[in-house]
Amino acid sequence: MSGFDFDLFVIGGGSGGVRAARLAAQRGARVALAEARGLEGLGGTCVTLGCIPKKLYHYAAHYAHGFDEARGYGWHVDPPRLDWATLKRRRAAEIARLNGVYERLLQGSGVTVLHGWARLADPHTVELHTPRPDGSTGTQRWRAERILIATGGTPHVPHFQGREHVITSDQVFDLEPFPQRLLVVGGGYIACEFASIFLGLGARVTQLYRGEQILRGFDDEVRHFLADEMRKKGLDLRLATSVVAVRRAADGLHAVLDDGGHVVADAILYATGRVPNVHGLGLEALGVAQGAQGAIVVDDHFCTNVPSVYAVGDVVARAALTPVALAEAMAVVDHLFGPAPGQSARKARYDLIPTAVFTLPSVGTVGLTEAQARAEGRRLRIYRSAFKPLRHTLSGHDERALVKLVVDDASDRVLGLHMVGPDAGEIVQGFAVALRCGATKAQFDATLGIHPTLAEEFVTMREPVTTG
Ligand code: FAD
Ligand code: NDP
Repeated sequence: MSGFDFDLFVIGGGSGGVRAARLAAQRGARVALAEARGLEGLGGTCVTLGCIPKKLYHYAAHYAHGFDEARGYGWHVDPPRLDWATLKRRRAAEIARLNGVYERLLQGSGVTVLHGWARLADPHTVELHTPRPDGSTGTQRWRAERILIATGGTPHVPHFQGREHVITSDQVFDLEPFPQRLLVVGGGYIACEFASIFLGLGARVTQLYRGEQILRGFDDEVRHFLADEMRKKGLDLRLATSVVAVRRAADGLHAVLDDGGHVVADAILYATGRVPNVHGLGLEALGVAQGAQGAIVVDDHFCTNVPSVYAVGDVVARAALTPVALAEAMAVVDHLFGPAPGQSARKARYDLIPTAVFTLPSVGTVGLTEAQARAEGRRLRIYRSAFKPLRHTLSGHDERALVKLVVDDASDRVLGLHMVGPDAGEIVQGFAVALRCGATKAQFDATLGIHPTLAEEFVTMREPVTTG
């Protein structure tokens, strides 16, 4: 025996931690996983407070438009009414089911699942603080040859007067009562997604963003197009505007704005980014190197400067997406315990990460934006089509869709593919394979469309709108 209790001790039961623990155990390693929130936390942010409940609410919001569109097709629909309590209850039940699935997957792989808040006592010792039924806390110490930190991230709210009155995405799913007036602060993924969701669910939504346009980092045309579409759906989107203070009054929460105006709301959602979850882990005492906002610094194999300590996922802050955390977890397990039989060791790649923003309409993107490609000094051909999808010819809606290709003129390679429209994530996922294979515009042209679909636009755009 090695003198260690475990070969690998994973801290955090989220996307990265669960995947690493399961795979390592399947390779024969003795693995423990500690999750601070116990069974209710298994699956991590994605399952409990992120991707999954968000997507369920996105579907819920989507129906509002569906009822409306159906009228254009001859359906008679009584005025639809949302039962917010039912939505919350059914979401909670589904998440609880998934927590159980994750627990069974871990236990089925032979992982020892522990409930408690973990901190590193030394390079090979994890101290676990577990709540007892009587309210006290028990402490256990476990020795492990390697420790993997996969503690994710946590919402960041800047400091301002009245900060205690606002909520983050952690509280938004269970808001009580339903906020008839919602103020959303931020212009990133979470702000845009929840502005869309609550708009669809029937709230009056104001979204404030400090910059010139939402979704910084996305293709500029996508950003403008989405902003226009969300406004058409009724969003009060105010750019270059910030909150200076929030106070509670009899008629609601008053947000005082830097332009002298104010917004009254029933709830104020701050979606102003997330920071790595490193508080209380004992990293400073151990000398684990940290970067901006405490992100754990790792090498290509996800090893920190302390040789027995590794980290993956949002806590290393490379790209805060579930598939990235999963890819990092697989890479670290292949490195530590060898790849699966007959396969070579996987490496996490950060180029060509496909991503979707689940707004209504949604955004899907993979590869370079036009601005990024231009910054590389390339001569480009830009193909773009903005149109009313067939579905809306009868629905009576004025929603439009955008598809765009960024093509390298010299090599004909498609460098970037972007869209705004229904099911953008589903559509772009397939095209991401083509871009990973290095597809050229000529190969897009040689691909037959599926008619009539929205996605066929990607293979039928013949003339560039810009060259140079
Ligand atoms: P997490 O999933 O955050 O897991 C970390 C776990 O560690 C948590 O369960 C936490 O309780 C536990 N923990 C923390 N500290 C300790 C400790 N000291 N001891 C023990 N346990 C501890 N990504 C997408 O790809 N698509 C989406 O649609 C999407 N939607 C999102 C929507 C929202 C509202 C949010 C907030 C995020 C969303 N994300 C989405 C991002 C995605 O959820 C994260 O990138 C992903 O969950 C990161 O996985 P992780 O394993 O690094 O951390
Ligand atoms: P983002 O980084 O996407 O957006 C943060 C937003 O808050 C930006 O608009 C930023 O503005 C703004 N902001 C930051 N600080 C302040 C401040 N002090 N005052 C006012 N505004 C501020 O973070 P999110 O919280 O939306 O999401 C966190 C991450 O989770 C995402 O980056 C993404 O990786 C992941 N996620 C993925 C989803 C998906 O895949 N569909 C969905 C949800 C989350 P500026 O741009 O000017 O910096």
